[in-house]
Amino acid sequence: MITVKEAKSIIQKHIPLLETETVSLNKAGSRVLAQEITATFPSPRFDNSAMDGFAVRAVDTKGASQSNPITLKMVSVISAGSPSDVAISPGESAQCMTGGKIPDGADAIVMVEDTTGFSDANSVQIFAETQPGKHIRKQGEEIQEGDVLILKGTSITPSEIGTLANFGYAEVAIAKKPRIAIFGTGDELVEPGNELKPGQIYNSNLYVFAELAKRAGARVVMRNVIKDDRESLRAFLSEALITCDMIISSGGVSMGRFDYVRDVFMELGVQEHFWRVAQKPGKPLFFGTAKSTIIFGLPGNPVSAYIGFIEWVWPVLNRMMGKKDPNFLTGILKEPFPREKVKYRFLFGNAWMEDGKLVCKPATKVGSHMLSSSLEANCILGVENGERPLRPGEEIRVNILPWKTIG
Ligand code: AMP
Ligand code: MG
Repeated sequence: MITVKEAKSIIQKHIPLLETETVSLNKAGSRVLAQEITATFPSPRFDNSAMDGFAVRAVDTKGASQSNPITLKMVSVISAGSPSDVAISPGESAQCMTGGKIPDGADAIVMVEDTTGFSDANSVQIFAETQPGKHIRKQGEEIQEGDVLILKGTSITPSEIGTLANFGYAEVAIAKKPRIAIFGTGDELVEPGNELKPGQIYNSNLYVFAELAKRAGARVVMRNVIKDDRESLRAFLSEALITCDMIISSGGVSMGRFDYVRDVFMELGVQEHFWRVAQKPGKPLFFGTAKSTIIFGLPGNPVSAYIGFIEWVWPVLNRMMGKKDPNFLTGILKEPFPREKVKYRFLFGNAWMEDGKLVCKPATKVGSHMLSSSLEANCILGVENGERPLRPGEEIRVNILPWKTIG
């Protein structure tokens, strides 16, 4: 049995980076960027008006007021998208709409509300003084050409999509979705929708895995509940080893008489890197590889399987797509936390802000079969082994579930 820390460092050595693909911007949302994005031009690209108004030389408006309007000659009309090459000379102005390119010679915009307004007349009266630069969006004031806008490995959200479009990227390179096989084992498992006979339970783990995989950005391409029988297991795994980037099993890797999964992995040439980890829940955690396929054998107990996916599988999926792991947070316990003498201890929990500090407490149901403990949780709490339980006021690692917020 190895420690959580040792297991994590073994895993790091065996994570392949997936290939990339190029997709159109419309298809890039929620994917992981596989290229660095730089500004292909400054932003704003050219000096332009922040207001509907008149482009003027600020000096020409000196002393202007309601009672002392200044009359300027009007030499052109500029709209967004239709610049003018007429330069503004002393005593002149141009109508200039929001987004319109500032004409040469002008250095300020007087908003239309401070004038006699837009018209076809060849002059306009200005009712307010202005200063150089007023209501002008300067070229490059937001971003310089060549600035790094988005780092490789970033998840593409509406903000990234907007920025990509803003700089003219019609397509981008993204990481391919990891192709995943998930399977459960157990003669007792029945699919929801069917009646349960004595001794049977519903398969919940594969539903949890499928949803987690989707949220992690992976694609489940094979999924099956397999009886505790070597032949069916071998058939499923042989195909999965050829077609998938990752295989995740639930159950059948413990010490039970019918726990064949590990044996069959080995028969099919999977190289085992570790099998048991000093953690609770989820001691019988299997990790292996076969060529570029990663194999995780997670325990069957629903809480162990769920926590195992989040703590072990999710970060690996991230890495395969070139995404960095988020940093864990540290919270202050409001209630005791049951530490283990030799094992790392994980529990679903809740974390929230109180007086500007992150505080947390474990779920009240602690059994690894008690899946309802996940319903109210927004995080997984975890702590190294130790002699006594953690007390309220002590610190603990907080792993916020990726789709949750701190309540
Ligand atoms: P095992 O790891 O096969 O010994 O299973 C441990 C426990 O988890 C047993 O109580 C199983 O019935 C349960 N279990 C195994 N697979 C699933 C599953 N897919 N959904 C829900 N419970 C499961
Ligand atoms: Mg079983």
